[in-house]
Formats: sequence, C-alpha cells, structure tokens
Amino acid sequence: MSTALVFREDAYARACDATVLEARANVLVLDRTVFYPLGGGQPGDTGRIGGLRVVDTRKGEGETVLHIVEPDAPLPAPGTRVRAEIDWPRRYRLMRLHTALHLLGAVVGAPVTGGRIAEDKAHLDFDIEMERLAKDAIEERLNALVRADYPTRTRWISDAELDARPELVRTMSVAPPRGAGRVRLVEIPGVDLQACGGTHVARTGEIGAVAVTRIRSEGRHNRRVTIALID
Ligand SMILES: [Zn+2]
Repeated sequence: MSTALVFREDAYARACDATVLEARANVLVLDRTVFYPLGGGQPGDTGRIGGLRVVDTRKGEGETVLHIVEPDAPLPAPGTRVRAEIDWPRRYRLMRLHTALHLLGAVVGAPVTGGRIAEDKAHLDFDIEMERLAKDAIEERLNALVRADYPTRTRWISDAELDARPELVRTMSVAPPRGAGRVRLVEIPGVDLQACGGTHVARTGEIGAVAVTRIRSEGRHNRRVTIALID
C-alpha cells in the first residue's frame, strides 16, 4: 500500500481526487494526496476529505500518509472516490516560512541543530556564539534575499550520493526522509542547497517581508533565531 505524494512534485496543488485505500478508527489512507505529513520541522496539513475534517497528517508505514480526521466521524469505505483539499492559506504561510528558514540558514552560515515551523513563526537553532548573531544585520540580509526573488528548484539524488555529500544534510534532527533510494534536494541557486522533503514557494519574493523577532540562548551550544512574516 502506498500513497502518491502530489505535494512533492507540486507544492501548489490544493486539492486532488483520490481513492480510499484504508479506513480505521479516525485515520484515512488514500492512493494519492495533497496533504503534507508532519516532518522535517514542518507541521502536517489540515483540511477536508469529502465531508470530513482532517485535523492532522502523519507519515504511515512505508510510503503512506495518514489523514487524521475528527474522532467518531463515519468514514468512507475503501474504494470510495473522495476529494482531498488542504487548508491552503495555512499551508501557504507554512511554505513561505519554510523557505524563509532556508534563507536564514544561508545568512547565519553556522551548523543548524534543529528547527520548527508554525503558522505564525519559525525558528532555527544554531551552534554559534551569541556575539556573532546581530538581529538587525540578519533581518536586513534576509529581506534582501527575499527581495532578490530567487527561484527555488528541486532535483533528486540517490541515497549513496547523499552519503558522499554529508554537507547537504543541513539539520541532523530534521533530516529528510530516506529509505526510498532517493532524496530530494532543494536549491536556491547561489544561496542554499540542501536535502529537504518539505514544501517551498517557487520564488523567494513570495515570502514577503520577514522580521527577526527573537534571538535567545537555548543551552550551551544552541542559539535560537525566531522569524515571523510581517503580513
Ligand atoms: Zn526545505
């Protein structure tokens, strides 16, 4: 059983038609989906499948995606054709913030120890001395990269190629999914290149103005830089 991941080829797909493969408790598995499952620091999508509210999305066994619906909802039987539609305004904000984190990593240029994206803000943790993090300078360089409107591109490499180029795994704690034999690279040409399975905007200009809202120490080797979208 596997789910075709529409978001992986087209992050802008808001809806798709699909067939129910499995329905149990409050979980639906489809043959294809636009719903991104929690992973890589990016939350799982919410939305609707048929008349059901999807409250979260997780990875399942193998290449499956688990759509978690409200408890006690009557589920469609396997074989039923359904329409799957994500909460697009929420996802689009996550895409903008996710792409902004790629820029933040490039601006700070220190090893990344972790990261997380929420609908209203996102952060990366860096292994760096506090004195090297100047809020105003980071914000200015971040917004310059946004205004320069760089494209984002994806391509695939094998697991073996990734092993040979460990620098492409920027964040160990949010490493991209492996095991399918190939890993997706996300490139912002001249700015950033890393393995990443998340959803990104097509051009950095779509991020819009960004603020660095906080820089604080999170333990001896962790400096957390938090950003937010201004609109
Ligand atoms: Zn990414």
